[in-house]
Amino acid sequence: MRQVRKSWGLILALLVLISCVTEKKQSDTEKTSELIQPQKWWEKLPRPVYTTLEKVEIGQEWFEVYKLFEATYAIYEPYQFEEAISYLVIGNDKAVVIDTGTGIGDLKQVVSKLNSHPVSVVNTHGHWDHIGNNHQFKEIACYNDSACLDRLRSGMNNDSLQRSVTGDSLWKPLPEGFDPATWEIPPVTPTALLEEGDTIELGRRSLEVIHTPGHSPGSMCLLDKKNRILFTGDTFFPGPLYAYPEDVDIKDYLASIDKLEERLNEYDHLCSGHNDPWVKSEVIPRVAAAFREIMAGRDEYNEDQGIRRYYFDGFDILVRADMIKK
Ligand SMILES: [Zn+2]
Repeated sequence: MRQVRKSWGLILALLVLISCVTEKKQSDTEKTSELIQPQKWWEKLPRPVYTTLEKVEIGQEWFEVYKLFEATYAIYEPYQFEEAISYLVIGNDKAVVIDTGTGIGDLKQVVSKLNSHPVSVVNTHGHWDHIGNNHQFKEIACYNDSACLDRLRSGMNNDSLQRSVTGDSLWKPLPEGFDPATWEIPPVTPTALLEEGDTIELGRRSLEVIHTPGHSPGSMCLLDKKNRILFTGDTFFPGPLYAYPEDVDIKDYLASIDKLEERLNEYDHLCSGHNDPWVKSEVIPRVAAAFREIMAGRDEYNEDQGIRRYYFDGFDILVRADMIKK
């Protein structure tokens, strides 16, 4: 009898623990402001741009792959809130993967179906939704910045990632074989550090490194001069630009957009880190103007939990209210 009581006690304790954990997860999800993650965000998918791009069937459920032009692919994750986009850029001798997404799908398998050259990774910055599959590759580069290096070297543990695979963050099942209970982003050590003006040679095709701190200190863009495209990571994407997290420097962000505007005659399209892989470059001067308006005290915005969302044509900007001078 004693034994039975003990077991019931144990079961009860377990149930309490489970309900606490569930509650914690729910409150974590609730903390995300509607301004950052709108409910049913997936209802606006597919985004119109995708009907204009050439879709490539790769037989994987998690990714959608689009051929932007010869030897250049966008690898898109439409089922998770980040809508992360990685890129495969192939030269005559080598290929690079620009960012590696959330780490939920098997990116390496996708890359191996599209490319037979030696391949390495170049990270536009160190945030989790861009470095998730770095561990699948041997050669990894990032900007020579300590904050970026630290993020790559520490990876992400399972607890910190839970919010991205629970509740409204997903609208389709996770891929077979992916276990959210054990998922983590393993730490990696970069094998190459890049600096402003460096050139990544791929064989009759190269990418120039443009340091664009702001969204994070180690953010960079990559310019494919020959094909007149700019890979922007999170410095620009057509959604709410994240200028509110702790590692954002809004003055640096504006200076970086100004820097991109100075070189506007060198590229026609932006291949961005989220939502849409093919954006006309004419948006860049408007982004610079938008940041200036915000910093000068623009009074049209919505505010929730200390975060402000400013609305513009083709993009929005999220900042912390305390970043703006009164
Ligand atoms: Zn991102």
